[in-house]
Amino acid sequence: MIMEIIKNYTGGMLKDPISGAYIDNYEPATGQIYSKIPQSSEADVEEAVVAAKKAFDGWSGLTPEERAAWLEKIAAAIEARMDIFVNAESRDNGKPVKLAAKVDIPRAVSNFRFYARATTQYASESHHFPGKVINYTLRQPLGVVGCISPWNLPLYLFSWKIAPALAAGNTVVAKPSEITPYTAFLLSQVCMDIGLPPGVLNIIHGLGNEAGSAIVGHPDVKAISFTGGTRTGQSIARIAAPMFKKMSLELGGKNPNIIFADCNYEKMLQTTIQSSFANQGQICLCGSRIFVERPLYEQFKADFVRKVSQLKTGDPVDDKNQLGAVVSQAHKEKILSYIELAKQEGGTILTGGYPIYPEGRCRDGWFIAPTVIEGLSFDCRTNQEEIFGPVVTIMPFDTEEEVLLYANSVPYGLAAVLWTENLSRAHRMAELIEAGIVWVNCWLLRDLRTPFGGVKQSGVGREGGFEALDFFTEPKNVCIQYG
Ligand code: NAD
Repeated sequence: MIMEIIKNYTGGMLKDPISGAYIDNYEPATGQIYSKIPQSSEADVEEAVVAAKKAFDGWSGLTPEERAAWLEKIAAAIEARMDIFVNAESRDNGKPVKLAAKVDIPRAVSNFRFYARATTQYASESHHFPGKVINYTLRQPLGVVGCISPWNLPLYLFSWKIAPALAAGNTVVAKPSEITPYTAFLLSQVCMDIGLPPGVLNIIHGLGNEAGSAIVGHPDVKAISFTGGTRTGQSIARIAAPMFKKMSLELGGKNPNIIFADCNYEKMLQTTIQSSFANQGQICLCGSRIFVERPLYEQFKADFVRKVSQLKTGDPVDDKNQLGAVVSQAHKEKILSYIELAKQEGGTILTGGYPIYPEGRCRDGWFIAPTVIEGLSFDCRTNQEEIFGPVVTIMPFDTEEEVLLYANSVPYGLAAVLWTENLSRAHRMAELIEAGIVWVNCWLLRDLRTPFGGVKQSGVGREGGFEALDFFTEPKNVCIQYG
Protein backbone atom coordinates (compact mmCIF):
# COMPACT_ATOMS: atom_id res chain seq x y z
CA MET A 1 0.00 0.00 0.00
CA ILE A 2 1.26 3.48 -0.86
CA MET A 3 1.29 5.65 2.23
CA GLU A 4 -0.32 8.96 1.40
CA ILE A 5 1.36 12.02 2.89
CA ILE A 6 -0.95 14.84 3.87
CA LYS A 7 0.50 18.35 3.69
CA ASN A 8 -0.19 21.72 5.17
CA TYR A 9 -1.73 24.38 2.94
CA THR A 10 -0.01 27.71 3.52
CA GLY A 11 0.15 30.77 1.32
CA GLY A 12 -1.58 28.88 -1.49
CA MET A 13 0.93 26.00 -1.50
CA LEU A 14 1.13 22.49 -0.08
CA LYS A 15 3.97 22.30 2.41
CA ASP A 16 5.75 19.77 4.59
CA PRO A 17 5.93 20.62 8.28
CA ILE A 18 9.05 22.66 9.02
CA SER A 19 10.22 20.09 11.59
CA GLY A 20 9.75 17.23 9.12
CA ALA A 21 7.74 15.31 11.76
CA TYR A 22 4.61 13.35 10.86
CA ILE A 23 1.84 11.61 12.80
CA ASP A 24 0.13 8.36 11.80
CA ASN A 25 -3.41 8.55 10.49
CA TYR A 26 -5.57 5.45 11.01
CA GLU A 27 -8.53 3.98 9.21
CA PRO A 28 -10.92 3.15 12.08
CA ALA A 29 -12.67 0.35 10.17
CA THR A 30 -9.43 -1.61 9.79
CA GLY A 31 -7.30 -0.24 12.61
CA GLN A 32 -4.50 0.26 10.04
CA ILE A 33 -2.34 3.31 9.40
CA TYR A 34 -3.07 4.58 5.91
CA SER A 35 -1.63 8.09 5.77
CA LYS A 36 0.69 10.47 7.54
CA ILE A 37 -0.14 13.98 8.64
CA PRO A 38 2.16 16.87 9.45
CA GLN A 39 2.93 17.29 13.12
CA SER A 40 3.03 21.05 12.76
CA SER A 41 4.64 23.34 15.27
CA GLU A 42 4.57 27.00 16.18
CA ALA A 43 6.84 27.72 13.19
CA ASP A 44 4.27 26.33 10.71
CA VAL A 45 1.52 28.35 12.38
CA GLU A 46 3.70 31.45 12.20
CA GLU A 47 4.17 30.93 8.46
CA ALA A 48 0.42 30.50 7.99
CA VAL A 49 -0.39 33.62 10.00
CA VAL A 50 2.10 35.66 7.97
CA ALA A 51 0.48 34.41 4.74
CA ALA A 52 -3.00 35.16 6.09
CA LYS A 53 -1.99 38.68 7.13
CA LYS A 54 -0.53 39.33 3.71
CA ALA A 55 -3.76 38.18 2.04
CA PHE A 56 -6.07 40.18 4.30
CA ASP A 57 -6.14 43.54 2.51
CA GLY A 58 -6.92 41.97 -0.83
CA TRP A 59 -9.57 39.60 0.49
CA SER A 60 -11.31 42.08 2.79
CA GLY A 61 -11.23 44.62 -0.05
CA LEU A 62 -13.37 42.41 -2.29
CA THR A 63 -17.08 43.14 -2.45
CA PRO A 64 -19.38 40.65 -0.70
CA GLU A 65 -20.47 39.45 -4.16
CA GLU A 66 -16.87 38.76 -5.15
CA ARG A 67 -16.20 36.80 -1.97
CA ALA A 68 -19.50 34.98 -2.44
CA ALA A 69 -18.37 33.95 -5.93
CA TRP A 70 -15.24 32.32 -4.44
CA LEU A 71 -17.28 30.43 -1.86
CA GLU A 72 -19.65 29.26 -4.61
CA LYS A 73 -16.61 28.01 -6.54
CA ILE A 74 -15.39 26.04 -3.51
CA ALA A 75 -18.87 24.54 -3.06
CA ALA A 76 -19.11 23.57 -6.72
CA ALA A 77 -15.63 22.05 -6.70
CA ILE A 78 -16.43 19.87 -3.68
CA GLU A 79 -19.70 18.86 -5.31
CA ALA A 80 -17.85 17.90 -8.48
CA ARG A 81 -15.64 15.57 -6.41
CA MET A 82 -18.49 14.29 -4.24
CA ASP A 83 -17.54 10.60 -4.40
CA ILE A 84 -13.91 11.28 -3.53
CA PHE A 85 -14.88 13.39 -0.53
CA VAL A 86 -17.56 10.93 0.63
CA ASN A 87 -15.26 7.92 0.52
CA ALA A 88 -12.42 9.83 2.14
CA GLU A 89 -14.65 11.00 5.01
CA SER A 90 -15.89 7.49 5.64
CA ARG A 91 -12.42 5.99 5.52
CA ASP A 92 -10.92 8.62 7.80
CA ASN A 93 -13.69 8.63 10.40
CA GLY A 94 -15.22 5.14 10.27
CA LYS A 95 -18.72 6.42 9.52
CA PRO A 96 -20.88 4.60 6.97
CA VAL A 97 -20.27 5.79 3.41
CA LYS A 98 -24.01 6.30 3.02
CA LEU A 99 -24.01 8.71 5.99
CA ALA A 100 -21.13 10.74 4.59
CA ALA A 101 -22.98 10.82 1.25
CA LYS A 102 -26.27 11.88 2.80
CA VAL A 103 -25.12 14.22 5.54
CA ASP A 104 -21.45 15.18 5.84
CA ILE A 105 -20.34 16.24 2.40
CA PRO A 106 -23.63 17.71 1.14
CA ARG A 107 -23.74 19.76 4.32
CA ALA A 108 -20.18 21.02 3.77
CA VAL A 109 -21.25 22.13 0.29
CA SER A 110 -24.31 23.83 1.81
CA ASN A 111 -22.17 25.62 4.37
CA PHE A 112 -20.14 27.33 1.64
CA ARG A 113 -23.26 28.09 -0.43
CA PHE A 114 -25.23 29.32 2.54
CA TYR A 115 -22.54 31.80 3.59
CA ALA A 116 -21.95 32.87 -0.02
CA ARG A 117 -25.57 33.99 -0.08
CA ALA A 118 -25.71 35.20 3.53
CA THR A 119 -22.85 37.64 3.07
CA THR A 120 -24.64 39.36 0.22
CA GLN A 121 -27.70 39.78 2.49
CA TYR A 122 -25.85 40.89 5.61
CA ALA A 123 -26.72 44.44 6.67
CA SER A 124 -25.72 46.59 9.61
CA GLU A 125 -27.83 48.77 11.84
CA SER A 126 -28.43 52.51 11.91
CA HIS A 127 -29.99 54.56 14.70
CA HIS A 128 -31.50 57.84 13.76
CA PHE A 129 -32.79 60.97 15.54
CA PRO A 130 -34.53 62.71 12.62
CA GLY A 131 -33.07 66.10 11.82
CA LYS A 132 -30.32 65.75 14.43
CA VAL A 133 -28.08 62.72 14.58
CA ILE A 134 -27.50 59.51 12.72
CA ASN A 135 -25.51 56.59 14.04
CA TYR A 136 -24.56 53.82 11.71
CA THR A 137 -22.66 50.65 12.46
CA LEU A 138 -19.83 49.35 10.36
CA ARG A 139 -19.30 45.61 10.48
CA GLN A 140 -15.63 45.14 9.72
CA PRO A 141 -13.76 41.86 9.41
CA LEU A 142 -11.43 41.06 12.29
CA GLY A 143 -8.28 40.18 10.34
CA VAL A 144 -6.74 36.72 10.70
CA VAL A 145 -8.99 34.28 12.56
CA GLY A 146 -8.44 30.74 13.84
CA CYS A 147 -10.85 27.87 13.24
CA ILE A 148 -10.34 24.58 15.10
CA SER A 149 -12.63 21.60 14.62
CA PRO A 150 -13.22 18.05 15.94
CA TRP A 151 -13.29 14.60 14.36
CA ASN A 152 -16.94 13.60 14.53
CA LEU A 153 -18.27 15.57 11.52
CA PRO A 154 -14.92 16.51 10.00
CA LEU A 155 -15.55 18.58 6.86
CA TYR A 156 -19.08 19.51 7.95
CA LEU A 157 -17.85 21.33 11.07
CA PHE A 158 -14.60 22.58 9.54
CA SER A 159 -16.51 24.32 6.74
CA TRP A 160 -19.19 25.56 9.17
CA LYS A 161 -16.48 27.84 10.60
CA ILE A 162 -14.36 28.58 7.56
CA ALA A 163 -17.27 29.62 5.33
CA PRO A 164 -18.63 32.44 7.54
CA ALA A 165 -15.10 33.56 8.49
CA LEU A 166 -14.16 33.97 4.83
CA ALA A 167 -17.55 35.36 3.84
CA ALA A 168 -17.17 38.15 6.41
CA GLY A 169 -13.82 39.16 4.87
CA ASN A 170 -11.36 37.54 7.26
CA THR A 171 -8.44 35.38 6.29
CA VAL A 172 -8.19 32.08 8.08
CA VAL A 173 -5.72 29.73 9.73
CA ALA A 174 -7.63 26.51 10.31
CA LYS A 175 -6.80 23.21 11.97
CA PRO A 176 -8.87 20.07 11.48
CA SER A 177 -8.72 17.25 14.02
CA GLU A 178 -5.51 15.24 13.75
CA ILE A 179 -7.74 12.15 13.97
CA THR A 180 -9.65 13.03 10.78
CA PRO A 181 -7.49 15.32 8.63
CA TYR A 182 -8.17 13.90 5.21
CA THR A 183 -11.10 15.90 3.82
CA ALA A 184 -9.45 19.12 5.02
CA PHE A 185 -6.47 18.09 2.90
CA LEU A 186 -8.82 17.51 -0.04
CA LEU A 187 -10.26 20.97 0.60
CA SER A 188 -6.80 22.50 0.28
CA GLN A 189 -6.43 20.78 -3.10
CA VAL A 190 -9.80 22.20 -4.13
CA CYS A 191 -8.69 25.70 -3.15
CA MET A 192 -5.55 25.33 -5.24
CA ASP A 193 -7.50 23.97 -8.21
CA ILE A 194 -9.92 26.89 -8.27
CA GLY A 195 -7.09 29.39 -7.73
CA LEU A 196 -8.27 30.82 -4.42
CA PRO A 197 -5.91 33.75 -3.72
CA PRO A 198 -2.89 32.53 -1.68
CA GLY A 199 -3.09 33.00 2.07
CA VAL A 200 -6.86 33.54 2.22
CA LEU A 201 -7.33 30.07 3.71
CA ASN A 202 -4.45 28.23 5.38
CA ILE A 203 -4.83 24.71 6.74
CA ILE A 204 -2.38 23.52 9.35
CA HIS A 205 -2.42 19.90 10.49
CA GLY A 206 -1.18 18.63 13.80
CA LEU A 207 -1.81 18.02 17.46
CA GLY A 208 -4.10 20.16 19.56
CA ASN A 209 -1.57 21.02 22.22
CA GLU A 210 1.06 22.00 19.61
CA ALA A 211 -0.45 23.36 16.39
CA GLY A 212 -3.85 24.10 17.98
CA SER A 213 -2.51 26.02 20.94
CA ALA A 214 -0.04 27.88 18.68
CA ILE A 215 -3.02 29.20 16.69
CA VAL A 216 -4.91 30.11 19.86
CA GLY A 217 -1.92 31.89 21.40
CA HIS A 218 -0.73 33.74 18.30
CA PRO A 219 -1.07 37.49 18.96
CA ASP A 220 -2.11 38.20 15.36
CA VAL A 221 -5.01 35.72 15.41
CA LYS A 222 -7.91 37.89 16.46
CA ALA A 223 -10.63 35.34 17.14
CA ILE A 224 -10.96 31.64 17.79
CA SER A 225 -13.89 29.60 16.60
CA PHE A 226 -13.61 26.21 18.26
CA THR A 227 -15.71 23.06 18.31
CA GLY A 228 -14.63 20.17 20.48
CA GLY A 229 -14.55 18.92 24.04
CA THR A 230 -15.40 21.05 27.08
CA ARG A 231 -11.96 20.50 28.64
CA THR A 232 -10.22 21.68 25.48
CA GLY A 233 -12.55 24.68 25.43
CA GLN A 234 -11.38 25.53 28.94
CA SER A 235 -7.70 25.35 27.91
CA ILE A 236 -8.39 27.55 24.90
CA ALA A 237 -10.26 30.09 27.02
CA ARG A 238 -7.35 30.17 29.49
CA ILE A 239 -5.02 31.31 26.71
CA ALA A 240 -7.38 33.44 24.62
CA ALA A 241 -9.34 35.28 27.34
CA PRO A 242 -6.39 37.23 28.80
CA MET A 243 -5.49 38.21 25.22
CA PHE A 244 -9.08 39.55 24.82
CA LYS A 245 -9.72 37.48 21.74
CA LYS A 246 -13.24 36.88 20.54
CA MET A 247 -14.18 33.26 21.17
CA SER A 248 -16.93 31.02 19.94
CA LEU A 249 -16.80 27.72 21.83
CA GLU A 250 -19.05 24.82 20.80
CA LEU A 251 -18.43 22.12 23.38
CA GLY A 252 -19.68 18.80 24.72
CA GLY A 253 -23.19 17.64 25.45
CA LYS A 254 -25.27 15.05 27.30
CA ASN A 255 -28.61 15.62 25.69
CA PRO A 256 -31.98 14.44 26.98
CA ASN A 257 -34.55 12.78 24.75
CA ILE A 258 -37.90 13.24 26.55
CA ILE A 259 -40.74 11.03 25.38
CA PHE A 260 -44.31 11.59 26.57
CA ALA A 261 -46.95 8.87 26.26
CA ASP A 262 -49.04 10.99 23.88
CA CYS A 263 -46.31 11.17 21.22
CA ASN A 264 -46.57 10.00 17.62
CA TYR A 265 -45.16 6.60 18.54
CA GLU A 266 -43.89 5.28 15.23
CA LYS A 267 -42.22 8.55 14.26
CA MET A 268 -40.68 8.86 17.71
CA LEU A 269 -39.36 5.29 17.66
CA GLN A 270 -37.79 5.62 14.22
CA THR A 271 -36.24 9.00 15.02
CA THR A 272 -35.00 7.87 18.43
CA ILE A 273 -32.98 5.13 16.74
CA GLN A 274 -31.33 7.88 14.68
CA SER A 275 -30.88 10.35 17.52
CA SER A 276 -29.27 7.60 19.61
CA PHE A 277 -26.98 5.89 17.13
CA ALA A 278 -26.38 8.00 14.02
CA ASN A 279 -22.63 8.24 13.40
CA GLN A 280 -22.17 5.60 16.15
CA GLY A 281 -23.63 8.10 18.64
CA GLN A 282 -20.73 10.44 17.93
CA ILE A 283 -22.78 13.53 17.16
CA CYS A 284 -22.77 16.24 19.79
CA LEU A 285 -26.57 16.50 19.28
CA CYS A 286 -27.37 12.81 19.92
CA GLY A 287 -29.89 12.21 22.70
CA SER A 288 -28.03 9.83 24.98
CA ARG A 289 -30.36 10.04 27.98
CA ILE A 290 -33.81 8.78 27.05
CA PHE A 291 -36.62 9.57 29.50
CA VAL A 292 -39.95 7.86 28.83
CA GLU A 293 -43.28 8.64 30.52
CA ARG A 294 -44.16 5.64 32.64
CA PRO A 295 -47.33 4.44 30.85
CA LEU A 296 -45.28 4.07 27.65
CA TYR A 297 -42.08 2.79 29.23
CA GLU A 298 -42.47 -1.00 28.90
CA GLN A 299 -43.74 -0.82 25.33
CA PHE A 300 -40.98 1.57 24.35
CA LYS A 301 -38.34 -0.56 26.02
CA ALA A 302 -39.45 -3.72 24.21
CA ASP A 303 -39.73 -2.10 20.77
CA PHE A 304 -36.61 0.02 21.09
CA VAL A 305 -34.40 -2.81 22.29
CA ARG A 306 -35.72 -5.11 19.55
CA LYS A 307 -35.01 -2.53 16.86
CA VAL A 308 -31.59 -1.63 18.24
CA SER A 309 -30.56 -5.27 18.41
CA GLN A 310 -31.44 -5.58 14.71
CA LEU A 311 -29.10 -2.72 13.71
CA LYS A 312 -26.10 -3.92 11.75
CA THR A 313 -22.61 -2.76 12.70
CA GLY A 314 -19.65 -3.35 10.42
CA ASP A 315 -17.70 -2.28 7.35
CA PRO A 316 -18.69 1.35 6.60
CA VAL A 317 -18.52 0.74 2.85
CA ASP A 318 -21.25 -1.92 3.08
CA ASP A 319 -24.63 -0.19 2.76
CA LYS A 320 -26.28 -2.93 4.80
CA ASN A 321 -24.57 -1.60 7.94
CA GLN A 322 -26.24 1.19 9.84
CA LEU A 323 -23.28 1.68 12.18
CA GLY A 324 -19.62 1.85 11.26
CA ALA A 325 -16.52 2.04 13.43
CA VAL A 326 -15.90 4.43 16.31
CA VAL A 327 -13.15 6.87 15.56
CA SER A 328 -10.11 5.54 17.40
CA GLN A 329 -8.75 2.80 19.60
CA ALA A 330 -8.57 5.23 22.52
CA HIS A 331 -12.16 6.33 21.97
CA LYS A 332 -13.31 2.72 21.75
CA GLU A 333 -11.65 2.01 25.09
CA LYS A 334 -13.23 5.09 26.64
CA ILE A 335 -16.72 4.02 25.50
CA LEU A 336 -16.22 0.46 26.76
CA SER A 337 -14.98 1.80 30.10
CA TYR A 338 -18.23 3.75 30.46
CA ILE A 339 -20.21 0.57 29.77
CA GLU A 340 -18.26 -1.08 32.60
CA LEU A 341 -18.94 1.93 34.81
CA ALA A 342 -22.66 1.67 34.04
CA LYS A 343 -22.62 -1.96 35.23
CA GLN A 344 -20.79 -0.97 38.41
CA GLU A 345 -23.37 1.76 38.98
CA GLY A 346 -26.13 -0.85 38.88
CA GLY A 347 -27.18 -0.58 35.25
CA THR A 348 -28.54 -3.48 33.25
CA ILE A 349 -27.39 -3.87 29.64
CA LEU A 350 -30.53 -4.56 27.60
CA THR A 351 -28.69 -4.97 24.30
CA GLY A 352 -25.11 -4.46 23.07
CA GLY A 353 -22.42 -3.62 25.57
CA TYR A 354 -19.55 -5.36 23.75
CA PRO A 355 -16.99 -4.76 21.00
CA ILE A 356 -17.57 -6.30 17.57
CA TYR A 357 -14.87 -7.87 15.38
CA PRO A 358 -16.36 -8.22 11.89
CA GLU A 359 -15.13 -10.88 9.51
CA GLY A 360 -12.69 -9.95 6.74
CA ARG A 361 -10.94 -6.65 6.19
CA CYS A 362 -12.48 -5.01 9.29
CA ARG A 363 -11.50 -7.67 11.84
CA ASP A 364 -9.04 -5.31 13.55
CA GLY A 365 -11.34 -2.28 13.34
CA TRP A 366 -12.91 -0.43 16.23
CA PHE A 367 -16.57 -1.43 16.43
CA ILE A 368 -19.00 -1.42 19.35
CA ALA A 369 -22.51 -2.87 19.32
CA PRO A 370 -25.24 -0.26 19.88
CA THR A 371 -25.93 -0.39 23.58
CA VAL A 372 -29.04 0.33 25.67
CA ILE A 373 -28.79 0.48 29.46
CA GLU A 374 -31.53 0.77 32.09
CA GLY A 375 -31.77 0.89 35.84
CA LEU A 376 -29.48 3.85 36.48
CA SER A 377 -30.21 6.95 38.52
CA PHE A 378 -30.33 10.26 36.70
CA ASP A 379 -27.39 11.62 38.68
CA CYS A 380 -24.90 8.74 38.36
CA ARG A 381 -21.70 9.34 36.37
CA THR A 382 -22.95 7.35 33.37
CA ASN A 383 -25.87 9.77 33.13
CA GLN A 384 -23.86 12.90 33.84
CA GLU A 385 -20.69 12.52 31.76
CA GLU A 386 -20.36 12.64 27.99
CA ILE A 387 -19.69 9.18 26.52
CA PHE A 388 -20.00 10.19 22.86
CA GLY A 389 -20.52 6.68 21.51
CA PRO A 390 -23.27 4.18 20.66
CA VAL A 391 -24.55 4.05 24.22
CA VAL A 392 -27.87 5.32 25.59
CA THR A 393 -29.65 4.96 28.90
CA ILE A 394 -33.42 4.67 29.31
CA MET A 395 -35.40 5.65 32.36
CA PRO A 396 -39.09 6.13 33.22
CA PHE A 397 -40.61 9.34 34.65
CA ASP A 398 -44.01 10.36 35.99
CA THR A 399 -44.31 14.13 35.82
CA GLU A 400 -43.07 17.11 33.83
CA GLU A 401 -41.35 18.48 36.95
CA GLU A 402 -39.51 15.24 37.51
CA VAL A 403 -38.25 14.92 33.95
CA LEU A 404 -37.18 18.56 33.90
CA LEU A 405 -35.11 17.89 37.00
CA TYR A 406 -33.49 14.92 35.24
CA ALA A 407 -32.99 16.75 31.97
CA ASN A 408 -31.43 19.84 33.53
CA SER A 409 -29.30 18.00 36.09
CA VAL A 410 -26.20 17.73 33.86
CA PRO A 411 -23.47 20.36 33.53
CA TYR A 412 -24.15 20.48 29.78
CA GLY A 413 -26.89 22.23 27.81
CA LEU A 414 -26.47 21.72 24.09
CA ALA A 415 -29.63 20.17 22.66
CA ALA A 416 -32.80 18.40 23.75
CA VAL A 417 -35.44 16.32 22.00
CA LEU A 418 -39.06 16.40 23.09
CA TRP A 419 -41.85 14.09 21.95
CA THR A 420 -45.44 15.09 22.68
CA GLU A 421 -48.57 15.94 20.74
CA ASN A 422 -49.65 18.33 23.50
CA LEU A 423 -48.91 21.79 22.15
CA SER A 424 -49.05 23.62 25.48
CA ARG A 425 -46.72 21.11 27.08
CA ALA A 426 -44.29 21.36 24.16
CA HIS A 427 -44.05 25.14 24.56
CA ARG A 428 -43.88 24.94 28.35
CA MET A 429 -41.12 22.35 28.35
CA ALA A 430 -39.16 24.01 25.53
CA GLU A 431 -39.00 27.17 27.62
CA LEU A 432 -37.77 25.35 30.73
CA ILE A 433 -35.22 22.95 29.28
CA GLU A 434 -31.67 24.25 29.70
CA ALA A 435 -30.33 23.88 26.16
CA GLY A 436 -29.38 25.97 23.16
CA ILE A 437 -31.56 23.90 20.83
CA VAL A 438 -34.83 22.07 21.51
CA TRP A 439 -36.25 19.79 18.84
CA VAL A 440 -39.94 19.02 19.24
CA ASN A 441 -41.15 15.90 17.41
CA CYS A 442 -38.02 15.82 15.25
CA TRP A 443 -34.27 15.61 15.52
CA LEU A 444 -31.36 17.17 13.63
CA LEU A 445 -33.70 19.18 11.44
CA ARG A 446 -31.35 22.04 10.64
CA ASP A 447 -32.17 25.41 9.16
CA LEU A 448 -28.79 27.08 8.71
CA ARG A 449 -30.27 30.50 9.51
CA THR A 450 -30.98 29.55 13.13
CA PRO A 451 -28.67 30.19 16.11
CA PHE A 452 -26.64 27.09 16.92
CA GLY A 453 -24.84 26.50 20.20
CA GLY A 454 -25.13 25.52 23.82
CA VAL A 455 -25.52 26.82 27.34
CA LYS A 456 -23.71 25.89 30.57
CA GLN A 457 -20.62 23.77 29.81
CA SER A 458 -21.77 23.19 26.23
CA GLY A 459 -20.32 26.45 25.12
CA VAL A 460 -20.23 30.17 24.66
CA GLY A 461 -21.60 32.01 21.67
CA ARG A 462 -23.66 30.92 18.71
CA GLU A 463 -22.90 29.82 15.19
CA GLY A 464 -25.32 29.79 12.29
CA GLY A 465 -27.05 32.43 10.22
CA PHE A 466 -26.02 36.02 10.81
CA GLU A 467 -24.81 35.09 14.31
CA ALA A 468 -21.62 33.73 12.75
CA LEU A 469 -21.18 36.82 10.59
CA ASP A 470 -21.64 38.94 13.73
CA PHE A 471 -18.96 36.86 15.45
CA PHE A 472 -16.52 37.21 12.59
CA THR A 473 -16.93 41.00 12.37
CA GLU A 474 -16.31 43.86 14.75
CA PRO A 475 -19.10 46.42 15.01
CA LYS A 476 -17.98 50.04 14.91
CA ASN A 477 -20.53 52.76 15.57
CA VAL A 478 -20.18 56.04 13.68
CA CYS A 479 -22.15 58.94 15.15
CA ILE A 480 -22.80 62.04 13.00
CA GLN A 481 -24.50 65.19 14.26
CA TYR A 482 -25.97 67.18 11.42
CA GLY A 483 -28.87 69.12 12.95
P1 NAD B 1 -11.10 17.80 21.20
O1 NAD B 1 -11.44 18.93 22.09
O2 NAD B 1 -10.20 16.76 21.69
O3 NAD B 1 -10.43 18.34 19.85
C1 NAD B 1 -11.06 19.27 19.02
C2 NAD B 1 -10.01 20.04 18.25
O4 NAD B 1 -9.27 20.83 19.15
C3 NAD B 1 -9.01 19.16 17.51
O5 NAD B 1 -8.69 19.77 16.28
C4 NAD B 1 -7.81 19.18 18.45
O6 NAD B 1 -6.60 18.96 17.82
C5 NAD B 1 -7.89 20.60 18.98
N1 NAD B 1 -7.23 20.80 20.27
C6 NAD B 1 -7.03 19.91 21.26
N2 NAD B 1 -6.37 20.49 22.29
C7 NAD B 1 -6.17 21.78 21.94
C8 NAD B 1 -5.55 22.89 22.59
N3 NAD B 1 -5.03 22.78 23.79
N4 NAD B 1 -5.54 24.07 21.94
C9 NAD B 1 -6.09 24.20 20.72
N5 NAD B 1 -6.68 23.18 20.05
C10 NAD B 1 -6.72 21.99 20.66
O7 NAD B 1 -12.49 17.21 20.73
P2 NAD B 1 -12.73 15.92 19.83
O8 NAD B 1 -12.45 14.71 20.66
O9 NAD B 1 -12.07 16.10 18.52
O10 NAD B 1 -14.31 16.03 19.56
C11 NAD B 1 -15.29 15.50 20.39
C12 NAD B 1 -15.90 16.57 21.26
O11 NAD B 1 -16.42 17.61 20.43
C13 NAD B 1 -17.08 16.07 22.06
O12 NAD B 1 -16.98 16.58 23.37
C14 NAD B 1 -18.27 16.67 21.34
O13 NAD B 1 -19.42 16.86 22.14
C15 NAD B 1 -17.73 17.96 20.88
N6 NAD B 1 -18.51 18.49 19.77
C16 NAD B 1 -19.30 19.58 20.01
C17 NAD B 1 -20.07 20.11 18.98
C18 NAD B 1 -20.94 21.32 19.20
O14 NAD B 1 -21.43 21.86 18.22
N7 NAD B 1 -21.13 21.78 20.42
C19 NAD B 1 -20.04 19.51 17.72
C20 NAD B 1 -19.23 18.39 17.54
C21 NAD B 1 -18.47 17.89 18.56
